[in-house]
Amino acid sequence: MTPEEFRVAAHELVDWIADLRLRVTDLPVRSEAAPGEVRAALDGPAPELPEPFAELLADLDRVVVPGITQVQSPGYYAWFPSNASLASVLGDMASSGLGALGITWQSAPALTEVEEVVTEWLRELCGLAPEWRGAIHDTASSACLVAMLVARERATDLSENRGGLQAEPVPLVVYASSQAHSSVPKAVLLAGFGRDNLRLVDVDPVTFAMDPDSLRAAMASDVAAGRRPAAVVASVGTTGTTAVDPVPEIVEIAAEHGAWVHVDAAMAGSAMLLPECRAMFAGVDGADSLSWNPHKWMGTVLDTSLLYVRDVAHLVAVMSTNPSYLRSAVDGEVTQYKDWGIPLGRRFRALKLWFHLRLDGAEAIRTRLRRDLENARWLAEQAQQAPGWEVLAPVALQTVCLRHVPEHLRGGTAVDLDALDAHTLDWVERVNASGRALVTPALLAGRWMVRVSIGAETTERRDVEQLWALARSAAEEEGA
Ligand code: PLP
Repeated sequence: MTPEEFRVAAHELVDWIADLRLRVTDLPVRSEAAPGEVRAALDGPAPELPEPFAELLADLDRVVVPGITQVQSPGYYAWFPSNASLASVLGDMASSGLGALGITWQSAPALTEVEEVVTEWLRELCGLAPEWRGAIHDTASSACLVAMLVARERATDLSENRGGLQAEPVPLVVYASSQAHSSVPKAVLLAGFGRDNLRLVDVDPVTFAMDPDSLRAAMASDVAAGRRPAAVVASVGTTGTTAVDPVPEIVEIAAEHGAWVHVDAAMAGSAMLLPECRAMFAGVDGADSLSWNPHKWMGTVLDTSLLYVRDVAHLVAVMSTNPSYLRSAVDGEVTQYKDWGIPLGRRFRALKLWFHLRLDGAEAIRTRLRRDLENARWLAEQAQQAPGWEVLAPVALQTVCLRHVPEHLRGGTAVDLDALDAHTLDWVERVNASGRALVTPALLAGRWMVRVSIGAETTERRDVEQLWALARSAAEEEGA
């Protein structure tokens, strides 16, 4: 494709994207594609000859659009907000268009230094202490893995330079709450600690936040058994209910054992932009690492997960490589992001954040986040007042956890919990099958509930009102 051909096609594509965003409200929120359907629609030999761009666009409309869940729809309340602000989409295009190669500072000085600028902007916007230094990773899962690797290496005084974990005299233990995201156990296992050395600490039955006494007891019992506490992962904003682990206490308890504290605020971290939400993040400055995803609620298009650490020298000691072909005369003066994580090559992801912040501005983002918080409070109030509805967890942010108890299951001494589960799964499927909204059923304390995760960029109060009406009719129609 020549630059001139690109110019024509890109204009068409941009129009197509803008039109899609305008009509997303009319599309079913959940993809109804059957397994294998997309593949079957596109199957055939690899193209030997160029195809017209119009045919590709037609397939996007015909096959791809119906083949994705419309997470930019105002009716999207599933898993977590995964916004893709158009300002950041422009940054993504610029990133690909530049075609820069980020392997060392020298390979693209601007790629490194724009990343330094945006991670520093976001540190300041979040009110984090100046010691934190950040880098952009693909996801919070990768960020957590990096945190577990550096925690392991701190606990073992860089055992990677000797026999690694296999030569350590005592097992190292990692702690997280039973509500931690599945990426946390995954990172612990991949970092070599082993499932036997992962403790999922009990949570408070009302707030679902980690119980610090249980953490303290678990650590004491491990020490008594000859094991060594190496790290704690504190969740600020769990996936299920946005529960907030008590970070100040966790930091204090971890310090008694010299254990690393990683804060996973993947979804909730966006709330740090709001001064009125900062109390949720109290104590975070005492942790060793912190990750959060601007590509969730804040609205920068995937993938811009931030990992901040306070001790960059240790991070670099664990992660650095120094082959001759990557050396330059300025080493030692510049940041080499290859030494801050696992991959060597990096995309110019910082442009997504740079465009997003410059074109939308932090104030507009704050206004939107506040709108979502108010919408969540409104929905929780409606549910609290409606007969048969329960709000199952504190509404710390934009997620509301609901259950509807049909009349025939109310008030009895022994509620048939299996029947209640069946009712929940039934009404949630009816909401989702309507195509007008998408919410996520999830288990909480072993029973099904419905998570309403508000925060799509397009979701206004009227949309939440429509969702509430839809949920009521789906749940009450059969159960009242
Ligand atoms: N941590 C929490 C609290 C999350 O909610 C999620 C995603 O839902 C993750 C981690 C994983 O995020 P990622 O998809 O960026 O790996």
